Amino acid sequence: MKNNINRRKFLEYVGCGCCGFLLNQCTTVPITERRQLSIISEARLNRQATQIYEQIKKKEKMSTDLKQLNEIKEVGHRIEESVSEYFNQNDMPDPTLNFQWEYILIDNKKIKNAWCMPGGKIAVYTGLLEITKNTNGLASVMGHEIAHAVAKHSIERASRGILISIGTQVADIASGGKISQARRATGINIDGLLAQIGINNPFNRKQESEADYLGLIFASLSGYDIRETVKVWERMKEATKGKEPPVWMNTHPSTAKRINSIKGWIQEIILQYPPIKIY
Ligand SMILES: [Zn+2]
Repeated sequence: MKNNINRRKFLEYVGCGCCGFLLNQCTTVPITERRQLSIISEARLNRQATQIYEQIKKKEKMSTDLKQLNEIKEVGHRIEESVSEYFNQNDMPDPTLNFQWEYILIDNKKIKNAWCMPGGKIAVYTGLLEITKNTNGLASVMGHEIAHAVAKHSIERASRGILISIGTQVADIASGGKISQARRATGINIDGLLAQIGINNPFNRKQESEADYLGLIFASLSGYDIRETVKVWERMKEATKGKEPPVWMNTHPSTAKRINSIKGWIQEIILQYPPIKIY
């Protein structure tokens, strides 16, 4: 396989996480070939995501800036096409086959964030555009978010969640139902909605670096200059200096180590994953 060297490097970096028990409930992340737990069905999670996405569209203020929204859609369409094309050309099953891509721009300058729900439902907050600054910067963040969905990280996490919730139920019974009472009283807000689908809880470190790695590959295949990724992270670091960490930093733990690994991957990815189509 032509991506052997890179993949080995990636696996060295994240460590080879095996599912251990429940081996038959595992799938393999394409390209990185990391094994992941997957008990929940993709169809079920995508259906849930679609419902939550519709609720978020009603609750949040949509931006009226069509120019910016169109740029987001254009970058997204290019990444969509390149990802499918890459898997087709390499005779691998296209992980986005059941996706119904959709893009929204949420008018909120305070949130420097973006996410991609399972099934390709994407949101960018206007606050993020001050950090991405240009098309290449936008593509690097969107590549990362799309990578979380392509690698089915939410399925993996929801599957782990089931194991945890079985544990919680046992604890709930032991505590006389106090955990479920507290949950009913909390009510559901935007954060609650996002948390249900696993967007607002931090992805784990392996998933984060996997999304960094695959995101660079997808943006490069789509013909974007992925060297901008390092600059985006440096701008993010600068913008959040001395302030409360924004949502994006909570869900995307930024470290010097992360920027360093991105720097280490860029040259090889540019050579191994050149633009797959002519734009
Ligand atoms: Zn991420």
